[in-house]
Amino acid sequence: MKEIVDSWKNHAKEEYDENLTFLKSLKGNRSVDESAASLDNTVFDKVDCLKCANCCKTTPAIVSRPDAKRIAKHLGVPTKTFIKKFLIEDYDGSLMINGVPCSFLNKDNTCQIYEVRPVACREYPHTAQFGFHRRSRMNAQNTLVCPAAYEIVKRLMGIHPIKK
Ligand code: SF4
Ligand code: SF4
Repeated sequence: MKEIVDSWKNHAKEEYDENLTFLKSLKGNRSVDESAASLDNTVFDKVDCLKCANCCKTTPAIVSRPDAKRIAKHLGVPTKTFIKKFLIEDYDGSLMINGVPCSFLNKDNTCQIYEVRPVACREYPHTAQFGFHRRSRMNAQNTLVCPAAYEIVKRLMGIHPIKK
């Protein structure tokens, strides 16, 4: 894990533009989704999220209405109360956790609502999700936040190099 985290710390920012250009070159290539999902498996075998939690510390999670309902039920409060206390509404009506680090993040990097956490948290950094090849901007942004996402993108470059 140390190698992956060190490489991310030392290079992710300076390589952002290069990574974005690469990710844009993948658009329309559906076979990339399979490669990304397979790399997601391999890389997350080497990365311990409990030693990181950078996503929970820096990026407010999107919370869908069904997420909010499920988490509120788990906490034993009305959904409206949960939304008022823990979420903010974006200009387009979507909901997200109202600050970072996330209110549900414990000191040891565990999540207080792990079993019922938002789907966006469960799926982050979305490298195993259908449509990876289309999400160039989001994937590039995730290389700045997540060491595993960065590593997956770097390895993908070896599998799907930009055609010159
Ligand atoms: S940023 Fe990536 S590696 Fe770190 S905890 Fe989140 S998903 Fe895991
Ligand atoms: S809900 Fe849990 S997994 Fe999601 S950001 Fe907060 S602490 Fe992290």
